[in-house]
Amino acid sequence: MNPIYQAAQDRYAASESIYERCGQSGVLLPKISLGFWHNFGGIDPYERSRAITRYAFDHGITHFDLANNYGPPYGSAEQTMGRLLKDDFAPYRDELFISSKAGFDMWDGPYGNWGSRKYLMASLDQSLKRMGLDYVDLFYSHRFDPLTPIEETLQALVDIVRAGKALYIGLSRWPLEALKFADKYLRERDVPLLIYQGRLHLLDRAPQEEGILDYCKENGIGFISFSPLAQGLLTDRYLKDIPADSRMAREGSLKSERLTSELKAELHRLNEIAQSRGETLSEMSLAWVKAQAGVTSVLIGASSVKQLETNLKSIYAKPFSSEELQTIG
Ligand code: NDP
Repeated sequence: MNPIYQAAQDRYAASESIYERCGQSGVLLPKISLGFWHNFGGIDPYERSRAITRYAFDHGITHFDLANNYGPPYGSAEQTMGRLLKDDFAPYRDELFISSKAGFDMWDGPYGNWGSRKYLMASLDQSLKRMGLDYVDLFYSHRFDPLTPIEETLQALVDIVRAGKALYIGLSRWPLEALKFADKYLRERDVPLLIYQGRLHLLDRAPQEEGILDYCKENGIGFISFSPLAQGLLTDRYLKDIPADSRMAREGSLKSERLTSELKAELHRLNEIAQSRGETLSEMSLAWVKAQAGVTSVLIGASSVKQLETNLKSIYAKPFSSEELQTIG
């Protein structure tokens, strides 16, 4: 790979199709964003991660999503981001929207998990060091902590913004009632909630069923859907067997027992609908998520440039007919 990176001159040529306003904020996000949960850790080949990231940025994908414990090992995806910035992206820092999170287990002892002020503050400082950044564009509480006073978590987020360590605040996996409280609390302190990150895809519609997506839409909060391909299930990867190089074969976050005969039948059914639209299953699945009212961006993962290339096509997918939506169910 060419050691000197020059971003594609035409990376913003399709701007009108690619970006969408995030809720009622001033921020535009790409309709497809790139997540660093898998494939960017210390165990992954750096040049592959680098090629994926370059391809994304060259095609207008400006938003990269991280968390303190993405890897493995924990912290190493942020180290990769730091290396990528140093090698390729430092001149483009102001064209990037980089997020990180804290909320899940990160280090041993009572201060390396959940939602205390102590944890969030220390974790973000560590994240910034690993990435070599002065600030992240977006910092998330990665999950709601039922045992820490909600005001403590939220005030820590407000103070992080006031300290200039994050420009915006997001919440991930918070239940609706806590989200409502947070929205009010943050608004009253002039740090409006930018975005909610939740799991929404063809096989899991919880944010719609629980009213989270509607709440975000009605209150000017963006929504970004993580694992929109159900970690790869909603692609052609598992229509036959379990490929040796797949996430499922690694038996980590995607276990093989998930692939029941019922699920396989459903994947084949959806694949047929995709084919009738002239699309791959992954393209249709991503287009479906993006078509849900209130969704700002679809946060994908990719283990190759080829996958990313296929997935970016979904930005240009044709709209769903009401008949198709009915068949999809
Ligand atoms: P996806 O559902 O998009 O799954 C990505 C995986 O699917 C890839 O790594 C690859 O797996 C496979 N894949 C992708 N495209 C194709 C294709 N075209 N053809 C065949 N296979 C394909 O997303 P992730 O689960 O990776 O999550 C995306 C991001 O969401 C994360 O990186 C993270 O930023 C965020 N996230 C946030 C969470 C939270 O709690 N807030 C939780 C989980 C994720 P393979 O290795 O098999 O090739």
